[in-house]
Amino acid sequence: MLHDISMTIDGAAVASDQRLDVVDPATGAVIGSSPICTGEQLDAAMAAASAAGNGWSRDDDARRHALRDVATILRANVDELAGILTAEQGKPLADAAGEVRGSAAWFDYYANLDVGDQVVQDDERAQVIVRRRPIGVVAAISPWNVPLLLANWKVAPALRAGNTVVLKPSPFTPLSTLRMGEILSEILPPGVLNVVAGTDELGVWMTAHPTPRKVSFTGSIATGKRVAVAAAADLKRMTLELGGNDPAIVLDDVDIASVAPALFESAFNNAGQICCAAKRVYVHESRHDELAEALVEIARTVKVGPGTAPDVRMGPLATPVQRDHVERLVDQARDAGAQVLTGGRRMGDDGYFYEPTIVTNADPDSDLVAHEQFGPALPLISYDDEAAALGHANATNYGLGASVWSADPGRAADLADRIQAGTVWTNSHRGLGMHIPFGGVKWSGVGIENGPWGLDAYTDIQVLNRAR
Ligand code: NAD
Repeated sequence: MLHDISMTIDGAAVASDQRLDVVDPATGAVIGSSPICTGEQLDAAMAAASAAGNGWSRDDDARRHALRDVATILRANVDELAGILTAEQGKPLADAAGEVRGSAAWFDYYANLDVGDQVVQDDERAQVIVRRRPIGVVAAISPWNVPLLLANWKVAPALRAGNTVVLKPSPFTPLSTLRMGEILSEILPPGVLNVVAGTDELGVWMTAHPTPRKVSFTGSIATGKRVAVAAAADLKRMTLELGGNDPAIVLDDVDIASVAPALFESAFNNAGQICCAAKRVYVHESRHDELAEALVEIARTVKVGPGTAPDVRMGPLATPVQRDHVERLVDQARDAGAQVLTGGRRMGDDGYFYEPTIVTNADPDSDLVAHEQFGPALPLISYDDEAAALGHANATNYGLGASVWSADPGRAADLADRIQAGTVWTNSHRGLGMHIPFGGVKWSGVGIENGPWGLDAYTDIQVLNRAR
């Protein structure tokens, strides 16, 4: 049982009298608990982060080394962290281990990236230098689907740029992040990374707190809007990585045998709980049935089960609320005349499993198509005219990712050019990397994570204008 994992505040392990149960989504059983941070403890975390900022921001080399040490210690603890992650989130162990290794890779990447000055004028009148200064204390708030990696998309660049951080994981998956905080307290100076935990209310306190100068949030659009309102009160900088309803447009010239597995993997990885998963497929009417059949065949062979069992490719939904949400969307679509070709039901008596589900003939305006399902249910919509498919793809407030699938790179590129999304893939749907900027347009986000752009997002520009 995981009942003794602490918060990390000012380098010390901090407990709390009040605790929140954490449940294994594969069984529904309580596997541990997380502390619930009090207002005083949050104040202490913010004060520690603020006090640590001075020393931390001054020594670029020390930060670089510390980030490398973080990467090393994360790699040394892959098994423990992956075990906790699978236990609280449900994903297969191999994917959880990949998430921990990915986190380490993000720290290595940012350790090697320079927070450089840029000379924009150097003449007889002046030398003008654009400097990148840390913003200060960053309040980082993460979701439950990819808890460690998405937290570290924030922590690594924020620390590299010289900021200090107060990090809050989701109440559904707090343990892996809290444990990471304990492990990293062995290397990071006290106060540089504080990890607190609690209910959603703690997120509200953090965004309203006067100390942070930046809020970095990943989560739903609805919460993102609340965060933006709270951050506006004292003009905190913000990065918001929000929900997506990514369209995949499949043209008439594709090779279904290669498209179907790639599309399936993109839509059903992490049981569909990925912000930039393919969430609605527009397929040319001449290839609709063939693609549907191929996806159904794959769906029926996927091994679904607890993330700890060997060969399992899909775990449960992470929360009962999410399972109920997916169930409701599929049931509504079915009641309105859509065909559920495979899946469409809960699985087993324990845990929050839902069958990999392929749906055709859903109304384009149904919630299953028009909203983010964030689960293992994929609707296919047939089109006869590319312009109509493009219209459907863009007729939404979401704008995170999208993909176009075609044997003809020119056709794919032409359509990709007209899609409104932060990332458009062709003949794939999901490639992300520490060096590749990631963010949403429209309601899918504000700002960018990853790459040098992600580092810039944790800096304020200061101009040093030296008159000659
Ligand atoms: P959520 O918005 O419910 O919660 C996210 C985090 O915000 C949690 O830590 C939660 O405790 C906290 N929170 C809740 N209310 C708050 C408030 N009023 N103020 C401050 N913090 C608050 O999201 P979720 O259900 O955990 O995550 C799923 C959503 O996240 C999906 O919509 C998904 O698409 C999105 N997501 C986006 C990305 C991306 O990079 N764009 C990545 C992963 C997930």
